[in-house]
Amino acid sequence: MTTDPDRHERQRQMPGWDQSRVAGATAVVAGVGALGNEVAKNLGMLGIGRLILCDPDTVAAHNLSRTVLFDSSDLDRPKAEAAARSLARIAPGTVVDARVDDLVRGVGMGELADADVVLGCLDTRWARLQLLERCTLAGAALVDGGTHPWGGEVRLRVDAEEPCYGCTLTPAERWSSEVPASCAELGDRPLAASILSSSLVAGWMAAAAARQVLGTPLPWRFLSIDIAASDTAAVTVDRDPGCPHHTASGAVPRVPVSRDDTVGELLAVLAPGSEALAWAEFPVPQECYRCHGSCDPGYGYREPTITCPHCGNRFRLRRTTRIGEASAGTKLAELGIAPHEVLAVRSAEGRYSWLRLG
Ligand SMILES: [Zn+2]
Ligand SMILES: [Zn+2]
Repeated sequence: MTTDPDRHERQRQMPGWDQSRVAGATAVVAGVGALGNEVAKNLGMLGIGRLILCDPDTVAAHNLSRTVLFDSSDLDRPKAEAAARSLARIAPGTVVDARVDDLVRGVGMGELADADVVLGCLDTRWARLQLLERCTLAGAALVDGGTHPWGGEVRLRVDAEEPCYGCTLTPAERWSSEVPASCAELGDRPLAASILSSSLVAGWMAAAAARQVLGTPLPWRFLSIDIAASDTAAVTVDRDPGCPHHTASGAVPRVPVSRDDTVGELLAVLAPGSEALAWAEFPVPQECYRCHGSCDPGYGYREPTITCPHCGNRFRLRRTTRIGEASAGTKLAELGIAPHEVLAVRSAEGRYSWLRLG
């Protein structure tokens, strides 16, 4: 290995740059597809201290024309892990934490709250709203990006009071399915996309994230990037009073229980009569309604239905978010509870509060 006394010597000379702030910063990258690759590459090469990369998917051949951190030897590997391996080579000063899971199970809200910036590189409206809601509750600064065939958009949200992605959607759109906005118009054909839009949008996202880290945040909240019109413009967005994505949790008490502890240990620190709720549903062991045999697929089972191992009956599993329904010896991690998660707690009187896992 060659000596590398200061690979960031040139950027240190930039007005307003403070490499120590960048090196001390943590960014969460939600989604490690085309946008996530470019964003993670940029932040890694800037010398950011720590990157948490979260994506449940594996590398497919059609990713390879838009993902600088993957090559053909990564096919079928988890995207987050493949990206972490490349970053170890091109950004050796960055600690990369790969989470092969969806963002609710992969990154806890305590981690979002502690991060200097969160970057949303997701391709469905549903996932973008879910990340927005978690960042709102956590009080995390969010840079959210989206692409279309010749351009895209970047949305910056640093305070829960500000207009957000949800404000620009109708109530029906906010509650709509997991269909990417542009996919719905294209039917079931694969989504048109190239590295051109991804690299432009991700460049702006990383720039916005860097300025956030440097303490000189960019003034716009919505940037529209249109290659065909040769136009990149800040667009004013109004706050929709009906938009639900504006309530932060505030300061959250911590409990001396982590995801590596058990359900029983969590229940022991709750007030009598109150219950803790997970963000993602998990299946509960149940009886087959036809043969009454017991069916227990394990808490990590993600499919909506199960085939009874005794009689072959296929039925829909009951799922729950009530942590107390899992057996006391189960580790919280087995229920899909993310590291440093903030959980909602419902008191015996039906009031809600929050607690943060250690
Ligand atoms: Zn809003
Ligand atoms: Zn059965």
